[in-house]
Amino acid sequence: MSSIVMKFGGTSMAGIERIRNVAARVKREVEAGNRVAVVVSAMAGETDRLINLCREASPLAEPAEYDVVVASGEQVTTGLLAIALNAIGVPARSFLGWQLPIRSSAAHGLARIEDIGTGALEAALAAGQVAVIPGFQGVTADGRISTLGRGGSDTSAVAVAAALKASRCDIYTDVEGVYTTDPRIVPRARKLARITYEEMLELASVGAKVLQTRSVELAMKEKVRLAVLSSFSDEPGTLVVDEDEIVEQELIAGVAYDRNEAKVTIVAVPDRPGAVASIFGALADANINVDMIVQNIAHDSATTDVTFTVPRTELQRAKAMLEAVRGDVGFARLISDENVVKVSVVGVGMKSHAGVAVTMFRALADRGINIQAITTSEIKISVLIAEEYLELAVRVLHTAYGLDAPQ
Ligand code: ADP
Ligand code: ASP
Ligand code: MG
Repeated sequence: MSSIVMKFGGTSMAGIERIRNVAARVKREVEAGNRVAVVVSAMAGETDRLINLCREASPLAEPAEYDVVVASGEQVTTGLLAIALNAIGVPARSFLGWQLPIRSSAAHGLARIEDIGTGALEAALAAGQVAVIPGFQGVTADGRISTLGRGGSDTSAVAVAAALKASRCDIYTDVEGVYTTDPRIVPRARKLARITYEEMLELASVGAKVLQTRSVELAMKEKVRLAVLSSFSDEPGTLVVDEDEIVEQELIAGVAYDRNEAKVTIVAVPDRPGAVASIFGALADANINVDMIVQNIAHDSATTDVTFTVPRTELQRAKAMLEAVRGDVGFARLISDENVVKVSVVGVGMKSHAGVAVTMFRALADRGINIQAITTSEIKISVLIAEEYLELAVRVLHTAYGLDAPQ
């Protein structure tokens, strides 16, 4: 008998009526003869609420205690779903992260799953029970609760699927699958029947939050059969597959955006070896990820400006770190701007086609949208623009690459 993992996101778990709907879906899979492990998110909005409570208690909350608080949202939905399943005659029980256990690194707030104990889980499934597991949480080597970063329940689901060698990992969410862009911004976005792991990974890493980046990474490595589909309809969703399983490869898979960006410009950095290393070293020591980087050649051979982006949520910390090294590095001043967003186009077709970047730059220029920074990889081009143009830019690019659904 094959095992499957079903994961339900926050909107799907928001309230008892919706949890009953989830229970009915789980029941269908049980009746179809599957052994089912379910991974759940907290109710929509709950994780934000818990994070705000921590901030209110102290802006410098200890990360380990922050995790104790924010992991609690998933404990509630796990128990409620087990109750709802038992109530409709489907034997079910909950397994919290520490009970399986889901062992993780000690990087509180952004922990990585290291391995999952499956003994108790397999015994429950073999006994005909549905196992309900909270997403987003793990337990560290010294027995403390950890969380996996925003959107981490997707990764929990894939990790459970890999540990169980499940035949499917179905991610149920509030849209019908992976679209050519966020369907909430572009109503003419098209649902993709299939997308490659590589493209999904890149789309997730540039902001398409439909799957957490790490979940795609793990699915690719562990060869987990991953699907994205809706909790609210029976339409077929999107399958994430290897490149050779796609017959007709599109040039561009999709357009994504990320609002969690802030731009920092360091003015008049001495043009000498080691200056940039000291700047980014200070940020790396503080665990702040730098994303886009632009540095000009010094026209006067003395100083140059360096511009880069950091997550908006880390801007205040980044500024403090940089000010602390200003004397040593010898730069003049620091300017920051939070009103920026990153817009990216992704597609494996870029590997073999020229002119993809030009289409992007022209489409934005035609609408008077100024590009502040650019980065590229083999299958992605990203630009930084003013936040006020976000929706327009995404729509214009979606049209420029021929992605709009026919009307
Ligand atoms: P869940 O709570 O189920 O994990 P998320 O809010 O994390 O749901 O992810 C689903 C959301 O991702 C959708 O509601 C949609 O607005 C957004 N999204 C962004 N880009 C895409 C895309 N390319 N395809 C589908 N959804 C996307
Ligand atoms: N509840 C967590 C969050 O909101 C994890 C998740 O839903 O994936 O980030
Ligand atoms: Mg999510």
